[in-house]
Amino acid sequence: MNQSQDEYWMYHALKLARIAWEQGEVPVGAVLVQGDRAIGEGWNRPIGQHDPTAHAEIMALRQGGKVLENYRLLETTLYVTLEPCVMCSGAIVHSRIARLVYGASDEKAGAAGFLMDILNHQVALQSGVLAEECAAMLNDFFRMRREQKKALRQA
Ligand SMILES: [Zn+2]
Repeated sequence: MNQSQDEYWMYHALKLARIAWEQGEVPVGAVLVQGDRAIGEGWNRPIGQHDPTAHAEIMALRQGGKVLENYRLLETTLYVTLEPCVMCSGAIVHSRIARLVYGASDEKAGAAGFLMDILNHQVALQSGVLAEECAAMLNDFFRMRREQKKALRQA
């Protein structure tokens, strides 16, 4: 898979992240790809779903499992706009996906460190695809949130 295909799917994941934003959720998007088709799409929606596990990656993996009718998501690539957290990294290992591609790094909640080392042995890992675009969406979202809070306090 070449870089332009990675960027194509990462743009797709960014579109899904935008849906999360519109629903008032932290904008993270994920798409699971097999061959040249998307078999799972997800965006972050824990608030709307009343589900602490409803991260973009989990939603995409669940849908992919239904499409493949298999709990093992062999020969798939997961694209996600933000470095996966510890929970999602565990799910990625269990799902047996072949390749993980993410955009922005997450210094706070990302699974960097020992779990990332485990991931690295289980899947082909590519980071930093459209990293600036992915990080900008999150930064814009949190800036908007801060400004909204400030406006509320001043009202
Ligand atoms: Zn997660």
